[in-house]
Parts: sequence; structure tokens; C-alpha cells
Amino acid sequence: MAAARKPKTCYLFDLNGKTALVTGSSQGIGFALAKGLAEAGARVIINGRDPERLQNAHKKLQDSGIQTITRAFDVTDPQSVEDAFAEMESSIGPIDILVANAGIMRRAPATEMPPETWREVLGTNLDGVWYCCQAAGKRMVPRGAGKIITICSVQSELGRPTIAPYAASKGALRMLTRTLCAEWAKHGVNVNGVAPGYYATELTSALVQNAEFSDWLCQRVPAGRWGKVEELVGATVFLAAPASDFVNGHLLYVDGGMTAVV
Ligand code: NAP
Repeated sequence: MAAARKPKTCYLFDLNGKTALVTGSSQGIGFALAKGLAEAGARVIINGRDPERLQNAHKKLQDSGIQTITRAFDVTDPQSVEDAFAEMESSIGPIDILVANAGIMRRAPATEMPPETWREVLGTNLDGVWYCCQAAGKRMVPRGAGKIITICSVQSELGRPTIAPYAASKGALRMLTRTLCAEWAKHGVNVNGVAPGYYATELTSALVQNAEFSDWLCQRVPAGRWGKVEELVGATVFLAAPASDFVNGHLLYVDGGMTAVV
């Protein structure tokens, strides 16, 4: 009897030999992306501020047969980011893939939004992504290779009441992604964004618990449901892999069609 043929690894989506850093990956979307990138062959560094939460994530991945490396640092602190990149590159090796995912949500009507809340959200969702992109890019550009994926949102395109700083930060990420593409594409560094629709995580827990919102969402989204975090893996692996070598400055919406229809 002929031996069963082994499926060939498709090099287009193969991340073997690559090292990926996913910021904000101790839970939620970042955790799912870290798992997905590791399953595609990458060596993955997971990150968050809380070392205990990060360790729990590491253990959870280990229990499912995935080895990750942990690095706790705060993306809002430019010196911590630079120190972390310098340390990771010297002790682990070049970071080939950055997924700039860490982000927060704070809700309040615009007339009542305190200045410190505005700064907190912009500090994480925009400044934090910028610091990580800069630290990664300044190492990738001289090497002539790298993949940077910013985690944007449908709010990179669509406004919504009570989330002024969040929507402003995600809109700004769209232009940061395009501007970094303008500077770095010719150096072999692909900068693109993944823009999720609505996914049930801690960040959206207030909405998940709101039945009225959930009903509205399921009618508003052509696919008729919330997204599952694993459904963001395909787009992220694509943008991290050779398959996307000529894709630059693009935002890939993974939103069940939400931004395609009114
Ligand atoms: P989440 O469940 O709240 O997870 C956020 C992660 O980021 C945690 O691991 C958190 O760990 C980490 N983090 C927060 N601030 C950080 C900082 N300053 N430095 C380093 N790590 C930090 O959120 P999520 O829903 O997975 O969202 C992840 C990303 O997807 C965000 O950028 C969000 O805007 C985007 N997104 C989410 C949705 C959605 O429906 N959930 C939709 C569109 C876009 P620590 O607290 O320990 O630091």
C-alpha cells in the first residue's frame, strides 16, 4: 500500500525560523494571534504589563503544546520599549514580525471625557504603537526585511458615541500605518494593519453584557454575529508571511462585512 502523502508546508504562509513579538498578548485578541503565529511556525514573544497574567498566558499556551517567550513591559513608556527591544534582540535574536496589538478602551460622553482618560487611551493605542513600530522599524530597515502589523479597528473608519479617544487613536493608526509604509516599503519592511470588527473580549465586555447592543450588532453586521478571536489569525499570518510581500500600507478589515455596508 502506498504511504500516505504528507501535506507540503506552503512557504507562502510558513513562519518557521521567524521571531514574532505580539504586544498585549496575555489575553484576548493578542493571545489568539500569538497562538496562531506560533502554530504557523514562528517563535513568539508574548507581552503585557502584568507579569502574573503574562505567566498564566504562557502556561495556558504551554499546556496546549506551544512554547512562548515572555517579556513584560509597558508600551506607553518609550524608554522601556527601547530597552526591551535592545534586550530581546541581543538575547533572543532579530524580531522579524511585530504585531502592535496592545490597546485599551475607555467610554464616556464626549462632553464629560476627562483629559486624563483622553491621554490614557491615546498614550496606549497610538503612542504605544508608535514607540513599538519605531523600535522595530529602526532595526528592520537596516536589515532590509520585516513585517509590522498594527491592530486597528472598524473605528479606524467608523465613529461611534462615547469612544472619542478610542476612535481618534484607531483613525490615527490608519495614517501611521500608511506613513510608515511610505518610508519603509522600499527597505523591505511591510507595514499593514488588521482591523477587527466586534469580538467578545475583556475590552468589549460592557457591550457583550448589553443585550440591546448585541441584537443591534447582529443586525448591523452582514455576517449576523460577533467575531471569534481565532478568526483574526488568518489575516495576521498572511500579513506576517511571504504571501504578503507586495502588500504595503493596507488595512485588512476582518469585520463580518461591517465596513462594507450601511
Ligand atoms: P484586552 O482583552 O483588554 O487585552 C488587552 C491586552 O493588552 C492585555 O494583554 C493587556 O495586558 C495588554 N496591555 C494593555 N495596556 C498595555 C500596555 N500599556 N503595555 C503592554 N500591554 C498592555 O483587549 P482586546 O479586545 O484583546 O484588544 C486587543 C487589541 O485589539 C486592541 O488594540 C483593541 O483596540 C483591538 N480591537 C479589539 C476589538 C474587540 O472587539 N475586542 C475590536 C477592534 C480592535 P496588561 O493589562 O497586563 O498590560
